[in-house]
Amino acid sequence: MAKSSVLGYPRIGANREWKKALEAFWAGKTEEAVFQEQLREIRLNHLRKQRDKGIDLIPVNDFSYYDHVLDTATMFGIVPQRFAYKGGVVPLSLYYGIARGTKEATASEMTKWFNTNYHYIVPELDGATPELTENKPLAAYREAKEAFGIEGKPVILGPLTFLKLSKGYKPAETDAWLDRLLPLYVQVLRELANEGVQWVQIDEPILVTKLAADDLKRLKTIYETFSAAVPELNVILQTYFESVENYSEIVSLPVKGIGLDFVHGSAGNLSAIKQFGFPADKVLGAGVIDGRGIWKASLREKLALLDQLAGIVSSDRLIVQSSCSLLHVPVTVEQETKLSAELRGALAFADEKLNEIALLAKAVNSGASAVALELDQSERDVQALKQSEERNRKDIQKAVTEIASKQPERHSPFAARQATQQAKWQLPLFPTTTIGSFPQSAEVRKARQLWRKGEWNEKQYADFIRDQIDLWIKLQEEIGIDVLVHGEFERTDMVEFFGEKLAGFAFTQNGWVQSYGSRCVKPPVIYGDVAFEQPMTVEETKYAQSKTDRPVKGMLTGPITIMNWSFVRDDIPREQIAYQLAYALRQEVEALENAGIGMIQVDEPAVREGLPLKENEQAGYLAWAVKAFRMTTCTVQDTTQIHTHMCYCEFHDMIDSIEEMDADVISIETSRSHGELIHSFEINTYKLGIGLGVYDIHSPRVPQVAEMTNMIDRALQVLDPKLFWINPDCGLKTRGQEETVASLRNMVEATKIARAKH
Ligand code: GLN
Ligand code: ZN
Repeated sequence: MAKSSVLGYPRIGANREWKKALEAFWAGKTEEAVFQEQLREIRLNHLRKQRDKGIDLIPVNDFSYYDHVLDTATMFGIVPQRFAYKGGVVPLSLYYGIARGTKEATASEMTKWFNTNYHYIVPELDGATPELTENKPLAAYREAKEAFGIEGKPVILGPLTFLKLSKGYKPAETDAWLDRLLPLYVQVLRELANEGVQWVQIDEPILVTKLAADDLKRLKTIYETFSAAVPELNVILQTYFESVENYSEIVSLPVKGIGLDFVHGSAGNLSAIKQFGFPADKVLGAGVIDGRGIWKASLREKLALLDQLAGIVSSDRLIVQSSCSLLHVPVTVEQETKLSAELRGALAFADEKLNEIALLAKAVNSGASAVALELDQSERDVQALKQSEERNRKDIQKAVTEIASKQPERHSPFAARQATQQAKWQLPLFPTTTIGSFPQSAEVRKARQLWRKGEWNEKQYADFIRDQIDLWIKLQEEIGIDVLVHGEFERTDMVEFFGEKLAGFAFTQNGWVQSYGSRCVKPPVIYGDVAFEQPMTVEETKYAQSKTDRPVKGMLTGPITIMNWSFVRDDIPREQIAYQLAYALRQEVEALENAGIGMIQVDEPAVREGLPLKENEQAGYLAWAVKAFRMTTCTVQDTTQIHTHMCYCEFHDMIDSIEEMDADVISIETSRSHGELIHSFEINTYKLGIGLGVYDIHSPRVPQVAEMTNMIDRALQVLDPKLFWINPDCGLKTRGQEETVASLRNMVEATKIARAKH
């Protein structure tokens, strides 16, 4: 019989109970024993749900108090040296210390989990003496068994992926580290087997990336060791987020099952399985239900895929499962009462995906006719949204197709634009500017709340925003900034703000997903054709410009960033969605220009986040991402200066693409990348206007003039002074007014010193 299985369930709870429990505990409002009980309640509730929905293989140990990579590290006693850890079980206070920092020691680095928006804590191996401090998977298994008699499937992060994601060791030390870790893994598995555990899921998502020969050898060693030491345990080697590289090597490993992603890596995995077959001694975890998207599946299509697989693997060796952990989708659609029936009907969050998985398993085992009604219903739901007006805006589709058929170009090349822009603006050497937002004080947030609750009318709120703009235009002039901004006081979030004003977007009430630690995000949903409806930023920008003789820079979020920070429809390619956004935003750019705004910044901090995991797909993505940016910005006059901004200092290997965006000026984060980025721009001889962030806005500390002078001097050894701008690293919305003014004053001071030298 085919089984149904889930690879992991969201931790946060339908009402973010988990987040609230964590934050109350951190704030000292909950005793540890009470906190433990709250989390246990949440865990048990998740188990119960999965059991009631009829899932056969229910994951345990997928739950976490913060992050599963951190769990793995602390289970093995791997704690950064600066925490003065002496071995043994890692107490909660230390666990959260590593994640969040303490008075004495800084937190560990956090970084993106593959190509998702989930962030994990990077294990630091240097100086660690690994030991098994506690068998967390075993504890989780026992809990499920005792509470409900559930035969849970412990989920364990595999050794190869764990090592690859860790830092604090040299490549030459990899094998030594593996030698230290393997016996501990074996001990975990041995104890599980002794307890009578049947199935274990070992996650090795690293297998979807290109592995060197050494790593493939290590992979073999790892799974041969496991199978020799604990032969009775059924190990499912689980991959996700893409198709596996090295299919043949992977399926010949001595494990009981192989889990493959048939959503995000469908083409690659399917063709490999067809070409090379699948070993008769193994089960196939067929990840057919999208663990990352929020849409209902067309179950008949999924069933056809499963039928194909059953022809190769035989249906009794199939496990019907999610493509990855459901961690990446919200909990349930049930509470979404404000969406249109068409949209709501087409959504499937974690709980609805449980139904889909169980249904498909039933269809495989008992035939499609056994669940015909449900299959028909899912088809109707998917079709209803597909046929909806919002997804079939012929006007938009036609315009976008036409625009996208040409390579978008500014009227003149950069050199000519630069000359006319300089003639028009007469900016001093090293113009100073900021990235867009100014402090969102308690007062600003309060005002927005009053307005949202209806206690303030439109006029009251608009007047308040104008007062803020007045204040900050004055401050910027007084400080001596050359290119001003209005301050973005009317925006909570740089994507939500635009999503609320464009057609094709919807906002859920409760569609939260974990981003890092207790932090959750509620991405907008792009469900229809995106369309410009009316100017979104012109009022405030025009008002700001009316208050000063200096240029005010308009401020927009770019198409790729809006797309990458939203849940997007999956019935058309992402490329098309990007072009629709570009077309809509272009109309905003044009509206700003028509309103007399001569400098316009289109922020693209999230370009990097959409980069495909597969190297051979990266160039294609970057090409259309660049094209979307150019579509957004190409129609303006030569004298209109297009700016862009990128942050998070991870752009080293995309400088060529950044240059192709053809923005007149880019402002970029550098102060946290220790000059590496400057070096990248040097070897790539960047030829457009560039503003290097001369101070880190992530800290309340006021930077000294000399620090910034050093940064500027260093950059000017490499970059053309005529192209050089001076600005902070990123937007200032999280900072206070006083420190912001002081920092900017110092920045202008440092600029004067630099000007005097040139
Ligand atoms: N213009 C935005 C701001 O200043 C940019 C934010 C970002 O880069 N993440 O807030
Ligand atoms: Zn930024």
